[in-house]
Amino acid sequence: MRVLGIETSCDETGVALYDTAQGLLADALFSQIDLHATYGGVVPELASRDHIRKLIPLIREVMAKANLTLSDLDGIAYTAGPGLIGALLVGATLGRSLASGLNIPSLAVHHMEGHLLAPMLETPAPDFPFIALLVSGGHTQLVQVEGVGQYTLLGESVDDAAGEAFDKAAKMMQLGYPGGPKLAALATQGTQGRFRFPRPMTDRPGLDFSFSGLKTHTLTTLKQLETEGRLDEQARADVAFAFQDAVVDTLVIKCKRALKQTGLKRLVIAGGVSANVQLRERLAEVMSGLQGEVFYPRPAYCTDNGAMIAHIGALRMAAGEHDSNELSALRPRWPLWELHPPAANA
Ligand code: ATP
Ligand code: MG
Ligand code: FE
Repeated sequence: MRVLGIETSCDETGVALYDTAQGLLADALFSQIDLHATYGGVVPELASRDHIRKLIPLIREVMAKANLTLSDLDGIAYTAGPGLIGALLVGATLGRSLASGLNIPSLAVHHMEGHLLAPMLETPAPDFPFIALLVSGGHTQLVQVEGVGQYTLLGESVDDAAGEAFDKAAKMMQLGYPGGPKLAALATQGTQGRFRFPRPMTDRPGLDFSFSGLKTHTLTTLKQLETEGRLDEQARADVAFAFQDAVVDTLVIKCKRALKQTGLKRLVIAGGVSANVQLRERLAEVMSGLQGEVFYPRPAYCTDNGAMIAHIGALRMAAGEHDSNELSALRPRWPLWELHPPAANA
């Protein structure tokens, strides 16, 4: 089964083609980073308009790369949520219209399920069951995964997501948008041990996270350094180092706890923050110590992309799932726990 996947939930227009027999056939992405950088964050209306501009050219690009035509498609999957309503509407409307015109089924896909199973696009792919750390711009969750659509929430952030905290801390340091990768780059110049930031909620049992306090801690540290006239380039790098170290350490502690609690030895990390080199290195170390394994997507499939949506679409459509004829509502908010295994819906 050959499925076209469309991702337009936020500020990346992603399109890809996935074949259940051959795997990923082609992939194209347009990032709106430059468009939103001037404003220091995503402007929803500008995002929607840009998806409209880029989507058809990207679909053409993907079909050409795979040397196929639209008549070779068996289905079209699109992100239906969670995300920005106007942005979602662009991908959903085009995906459903195109499928209807081609007389093939379409399918609404959950963006976080896309992230969650993106490590399965790599070789070797993780086997079920596993613990997943979903760390993105909008989510920080520990999930027990027994199979496709069998997800149990073990813990999540009670306030900011890890990616959001990275972006906000980066903004305080005038690093630009999106700040996560920029802060991580600056941290490589930092000195270990000059500042030590707190590891929120690690001193009590449980698997929830909180990152908003770290943001405040970062601001206070920067202000104090500035007042004392010591906020030079090295001090900024040292603050970036301490911030990243605290976030990574907190994530690592909770992953270890989740593995211990469930007795599982397989860990998957996914979502934008899973591109973070420090996080990958620390988790690789931990998992080798536990004689376990860690899996993550290549950096381009950590952040938003079409491949992860085409992948879920193909998995679920091959089991017989598809949209009904009524115009189904988009889900700007959509808990992952409302999903079920593909066969159950066939
Ligand atoms: P969600 O998937 O929760 O709806 P989103 O789609 O906006 O949110 P992603 O595209 O998965 O999020 O990830 C983007 C986030 O990842 C941003 O917050 C970005 O700063 C962060 N990020 C990307 N690369 C890195 C990195 N190397 N280190 C830290 N953070 C990073
Ligand atoms: Mg993005
Ligand atoms: Fe995302």
